[in-house]
Amino acid sequence: MEKRVIVAIDGPAGAGKSTLARRLAARLGYLYIDTGAMYRAVALWAIREQISLDDAPRLEQLAAHAVIGLQDARVELNGEDVTAAIRAPEIGEAASRVSALPAVRRAMVRQQQQMGETASVVMEGRDIGTVVFPLAEVKIYLDAEPRVRAERRLRDLEAQGQAARVEEVEVEIRRRDERDRTRADSPLQQAPDAVYFDSTGLSPDEVEEGLLRIVRERTSNGKEVLR
Ligand code: C5P
Repeated sequence: MEKRVIVAIDGPAGAGKSTLARRLAARLGYLYIDTGAMYRAVALWAIREQISLDDAPRLEQLAAHAVIGLQDARVELNGEDVTAAIRAPEIGEAASRVSALPAVRRAMVRQQQQMGETASVVMEGRDIGTVVFPLAEVKIYLDAEPRVRAERRLRDLEAQGQAARVEEVEVEIRRRDERDRTRADSPLQQAPDAVYFDSTGLSPDEVEEGLLRIVRERTSNGKEVLR
């Protein structure tokens, strides 16, 4: 039987986790799982239901009942395609607030662990190597300088037809990172056994090759990549 492999990628907003995790999964033939999309889906539902982001009991209920489907980059919430809707900047901010609630995290982490039980996965988020899969074979902490991360986020927004200023985007991601790093439950931090990778100044192709090398080293002593 083939060995199942978990590749955990964590890091701050705009470090390139989604793009690189997706590419890496395609190269390795693994499932790609964007856990941020799950918190975003819960946040979107809360906003649509006009639930206050301070109303912990109702947000917990929502998270427990949210049926979230991930199929590569496509995200479904209760059967509806919300792939584009969850990418609005205010949803990122709301997701950061919602994800600080322990009961919301418990509901999402349970589903994430189930997803990793059946197949080899590349899973990206904030707490994958520290909480969701502390025993993952490969852990990577992907980082980049704040201005570079803001520029990448800006390009994502522009690609969706949204205008913004890079200074504003940088303020927004710094605020979100600060909240993610300082929350009590599962703060964003590098796992002690994660490989730190700084993507500042590197092209996506260069980052992909660098990450692939790390996966190879960790999974097969440099000989071959397990599938
Ligand atoms: O990765 P993305 O920017 O889509 O994540 C949105 C928010 O969801 C993050 O700012 C963070 O607060 C939260 N998140 C989390 N744990 C994860 C993934 C995302 O708390 N594993």
